Amino acid sequence: MTTGFMPVTELLEYQVDMDRHGAILVNEFCQTSNPDIYAAGDCCVSHFNPTGESVYAPLATNAVRQGMIVGNNVVAGNTMPYVGTQATSAMSLFGETIASTGLTIEYARKNGFDADCVQFEGTWRPEYMPTTDKLTITLVYDKKSRLILGAQLYCQHDVSQSANAISIAIQNNNTIDDLAFVDMLFQPHFDDPFNYLNLVAQMAVEKERQAGNHHPRYTALGNFHN
Ligand SMILES: Cc1cc2nc3c(=O)[nH]c(=O)nc-3n(C[C@H](O)[C@H](O)[C@H](O)COP(=O)(O)OP(=O)(O)OC[C@H]3O[C@@H](n4cnc5c(N)ncnc54)[C@H](O)[C@@H]3O)c2cc1C
Repeated sequence: MTTGFMPVTELLEYQVDMDRHGAILVNEFCQTSNPDIYAAGDCCVSHFNPTGESVYAPLATNAVRQGMIVGNNVVAGNTMPYVGTQATSAMSLFGETIASTGLTIEYARKNGFDADCVQFEGTWRPEYMPTTDKLTITLVYDKKSRLILGAQLYCQHDVSQSANAISIAIQNNNTIDDLAFVDMLFQPHFDDPFNYLNLVAQMAVEKERQAGNHHPRYTALGNFHN
């Protein structure tokens, strides 16, 4: 049995800059320290939006995006930047969906964030429906900036797409205040009038209010205020 991943980059040893694990360092155009050499996928680092740093995140999601960007930039010059990753991923384990994006509370605090988290324990759709399942969501956020830093979801139902929704919120620098009231569909077959992502963000807003930090910050007010 093995765990973890290691980049296999001996081919370029001493020819391009690498991190201490041997992952090739790249700029926003997936270009290495040698401007004639580009890198994509498990051999190189990715820009991790939640921390703003380069990390080794060997996922197919990153590999396919970086691969397309390298193809474009080699042919057309550096015209396509990589937007970074939240390392969003999911798995189905014994019939349970486990999905994650961005930072856990432990990782956030280790990386110097004044982070906190809230945990939603509910169901993915109303209990008056013929069936539903228990759903647990942990939402991680920065207390000062109120930025969403990460989320982890656990449910027998397939809630993996909700990790994608939070991934977009992190990518767009949205806050707990944005997520608390952002428009999401309601139909009892699918969810409650407030989607569970709204509800977990409302828990975070309320936790901060109770702690005396009631200074909501909106980054996405739509065009109502233009
Ligand atoms: C068990 C497992 C499950 C995974 N599941 C997921 C998942 O669900 N979601 C996800 O996002 N990611 C997943 N990943 C990670 C994902 O597979 C990798 O991030 C992705 O395949 C990386 O793509 P790549 O093209 O960079 O490298 P690779 O897919 O490893 O391709 C590199 C290729 O180069 C070839 N090669 C190596 N050396 C040489 C050489 N000297 N000459 C010629 N060819 C060479 C190799 O044979 C290989 O075909 C999983 C990985 C594993 C191992």
